[in-house]
Amino acid sequence: MLFDALTEPSDAIAVRVGDETLTYREMRDAAAAVADHVAGAERVGVWADVSAHTVVGVVGALLAGVPAVPLNPKAGERELEHILGDSAPQLILAAPDADVPADLPRHDVDLRAAGGDVPPEPGADRAALVVYTSGTTGPPKGSRMPRRAIATNLDALAGAWAWTADDVVVHALPLFHVHGLVLGMLGPLRRGGGGHHVGRFSPEAIAAALDAGGTMLFAVPTMHRRLADAAESDPEIARALSGARLIVSGSAALPAVEHARIERLTGQQVVERYGMTETLMNTAVHADGDRRPGSVGPPLPGVDLRLVHEGEDAGGIGEIQVRGPNLFLGYLNRPDATAEAMTPDGWFRTGDLAMRDPDGYIRIVGRRGTDLIKSGGFKIGAGEIENALLEHPSVAEAAVAGEPDEDLGERIAAWVVVAPGAGKPEPQELADHVARLLTPHKRPRVVRYVEELPRNAMGKVQKKLLTR
Ligand code: ATP
Ligand code: MG
Repeated sequence: MLFDALTEPSDAIAVRVGDETLTYREMRDAAAAVADHVAGAERVGVWADVSAHTVVGVVGALLAGVPAVPLNPKAGERELEHILGDSAPQLILAAPDADVPADLPRHDVDLRAAGGDVPPEPGADRAALVVYTSGTTGPPKGSRMPRRAIATNLDALAGAWAWTADDVVVHALPLFHVHGLVLGMLGPLRRGGGGHHVGRFSPEAIAAALDAGGTMLFAVPTMHRRLADAAESDPEIARALSGARLIVSGSAALPAVEHARIERLTGQQVVERYGMTETLMNTAVHADGDRRPGSVGPPLPGVDLRLVHEGEDAGGIGEIQVRGPNLFLGYLNRPDATAEAMTPDGWFRTGDLAMRDPDGYIRIVGRRGTDLIKSGGFKIGAGEIENALLEHPSVAEAAVAGEPDEDLGERIAAWVVVAPGAGKPEPQELADHVARLLTPHKRPRVVRYVEELPRNAMGKVQKKLLTR
C-alpha cells in the first residue's frame, strides 16, 4: 500500500495548503470520490495549482490506479501543448477556480466529498505518475514512475532523515515536479504525518509555518538564499529556522557559501539530497550523518550508484549511473530517449558528473555537456567556479559555462548578478579572486553582468538561455 494512513483514517491533519486543511479522514473521502470518478481512464491530468485540490486529485488518481500527469498551471502555450499532446489525458482534475483552458475536459475536485471505499491498490510495477522533467536540457520528457519507486524511495528517505508520523513538512515548492509533489506532499501522507505548503514562497510564511509546528523544511537553493537574506535582517526568521528539526535542500546545487551563511545565522547545517524525475532520490545526507557543504551524501539504501569515468584524465570525475527500485519505467512515447538513457547492463545514465569522497559521499560537479568545461587541456567543473565567485562580496548570483575559444578549445565565461548595493567589480578582479581561491587556469576569461539569471520554476539556471 502506498498510503496505509488512508485505510483507517484519523482526524489528524494530513495536508495543509495555505489556509486550507484536510484531515486524513477528509483526504480519504475526497480522494476516494476522485478515484471513483476517474476509474478506468487511461491517464488523467492534474492542473497542479498550489492548492489542496491538486493533492486530492493526485491521491485520487493513485488510489484508482490511473496514471496522473501533473501539469504546470503557468506553463507557456507551447510547453502545455507539448505535454498535453504527448500525454493525452482523458480528463483534467482541477480546483473549481482553476484557470484551465476552456477546450480541455475538466473535472472539479471536491474537497468535501462524501467518499466511497478506497479501492484495492493496483500492482507495484504499474505507472502511478507521469512527471515531466524540468526541460533544462531539451523539451520536457514524461517520466513514468511506478508505485514501487515512490514507496521504496520515500521509505529510504524516511530512514535517512528519521522521518515519522510526528513530522510536518513545510515547503513552498511547485506541485508539478517530484520535489514538491512526491517528497513534499506524498511523503508526509506515506508517513502518516503532515505536509504544509505555505502557498506563495516568502521567508515570513516559511517561518510562520515552522512556528506553527513544522519540523522539516524542504526548499530549493534559490529559496535558501532568500531565507538566509531574510534571517540576516530579521532575527525572528533566524529563530524560526533554528527551531526546525531538519532543513533540506535539493533540485540544484546548494552553494557552499549559502550552507555556511545559514549555519552562521541559524545554527542549522542544511542537508542536501540529489535526485531527478527519472530516478527519484539517489543520495541524501542522513540526519545523523556528517553534513559536508558541497556534498549530497551517500547513495540511499537500495540505490546502486557508480561513477563511470571517461578515460583516465578526468581527475576522479565520472558520470553518475544508478540502478535500483527507484528507477522509472521509461519515458512516455520516447523509446529512443529511454534506450539512450540506459546502459546495456541496465543502469540509468543521469548525465550528472560527480566525484566521490573516500567514505562514499558524492560531490556533484555539474551536468555532462554544459558544466564540464574543457579548457587548455584541463577539465574544469562549472560549479566549483560558481561557488568561488559567490564568495566574492560583490557577487549575488553566478553561472559559469564554457564557450568556444581558438586557443583554449573552450574558455570559461561567467554571468554575474551583482549584490544589492555593491558596485560592478572589474572582470579582472573576479578573475584574480577565482585564481587565488582555486587555481589560475580556472579563472573566468569573460565576465558578463546581468540583471538576473534565467531560472525555471525550480530555480534552476537554464544555461542554454544565457546569452553570449
Ligand atoms: P531535463 O531532464 O528535462 O533536461 P532536469 O534534468 O533539470 O531537466 P529534473 O529531473 O527536474 O529535470 O532535475 C534533475 C537534475 O537536477 C539532476 O539531473 C541534477 O542535475 C539536478 N539536481 C538535483 N538535485 C541536485 C543537487 N542536490 N545538487 C546538484 N544538482 C542537483
Ligand atoms: Mg534531466
